[in-house]
Amino acid sequence: MLALQLTSDGMRLAEVPEPEPGPGEVLVEVTAAGLCHSDLTVAARRPDELGFALPVVLGHELAGTVAQVGAGVDGWQAGNAVAGYGPRGCGTCTGCVGGRVNYCRVGSDRRPPGLGADGALAQYVVVEAGSLVAADGVPALQAAALTDAGLTAHHAIARTGVGEGAVVVVIGVGGLGHAAVQLLRERGCRIVALDVEQAKLDLALWLGAEAALTSVRGVEADIADLTHGEGVDAVLDFVASDATLGLAAGVLGRDGVLSIVGVGAGRLPVGMHAVALGTRVDTPFWGTREELVEVLDLCRSGRLTLEVESVGLEDVEAAYARLAAGQVLGRVAAVP
Ligand code: NAD
Ligand code: ZN
Repeated sequence: MLALQLTSDGMRLAEVPEPEPGPGEVLVEVTAAGLCHSDLTVAARRPDELGFALPVVLGHELAGTVAQVGAGVDGWQAGNAVAGYGPRGCGTCTGCVGGRVNYCRVGSDRRPPGLGADGALAQYVVVEAGSLVAADGVPALQAAALTDAGLTAHHAIARTGVGEGAVVVVIGVGGLGHAAVQLLRERGCRIVALDVEQAKLDLALWLGAEAALTSVRGVEADIADLTHGEGVDAVLDFVASDATLGLAAGVLGRDGVLSIVGVGAGRLPVGMHAVALGTRVDTPFWGTREELVEVLDLCRSGRLTLEVESVGLEDVEAAYARLAAGQVLGRVAAVP
């Protein structure tokens, strides 16, 4: 079968053997696999920094159809529409037992598909049966993008605790950010979106943002005006560069939350006089399985519809290049 592998020489489309499900595993025929900015970060690392062996098939946003179940698998049968829950945990720590596998305290040597184990950018992928979630009634492109872009945005917002009337700044209206705008709209928040691309700002306004501003130095004053100088309740930073973190610190009001979702290498100076009093900083990771079920339900009910462009596997490398250049609107997903 065809698969998009990460090798020690970068990405390449390769012919690889079709995988077979072992005990407790399921063979999934991929119907859509999303491309995440995190893949670019992973691909930019030196092979010895990765902590897993190459080559490996990329793609951690999985939607598919069950093709075959391995020995001992109950609950799934050929033809079921599924989405992949990514985080892997030890199963016994307080994080895992409490349903927060994404914050497993111990870590697992089992890697998520696409992030160390062979992933979804292929015609077939093998996953643990317990990592699948029913996705019937959700279009494949949506289901794929919801497993990370949708889920991570939902999780980050839930942890901020923002509700009706809160003013929230979204920095970076990309795959995750454009999901965040919709999720905040559904919570009744006032949204100020920042990006460096006009098309992303237009998308944010269309999705319900009250204001969409170019992310440049000095924009803090415009944001302050929107809150009559009080500062905003929360900032979701999907970029996390020095510049965006500095901007976030500059616009947050007292007792606000800064959620750093992007994996940029920026630094945030903190301390009594560097940020507003009572500022809480969060570094959310992915989301819980329950929250994945929630975003799939939000999509089924029409309250969350991601902007997802589909490409064939042969166009995935070019699509990653566009993603790196900021030229993707919403998400891109491969349809193998
Ligand atoms: P994306 O490329 O789709 O979106 C990034 C957006 O930021 C783009 O719209 C781009 O135009 C915009 N941008 C770039 N520089 C900017 C600036 N200075 N100010 C404002 N906007 C700017 O990426 P994505 O897939 O949505 O991922 C966003 C980030 O979240 C990445 O860093 C990714 O690695 C990270 N991520 C984190 C988690 C987690 O669990 N914490 C999960 C998935 C992705
Ligand atoms: Zn654990």
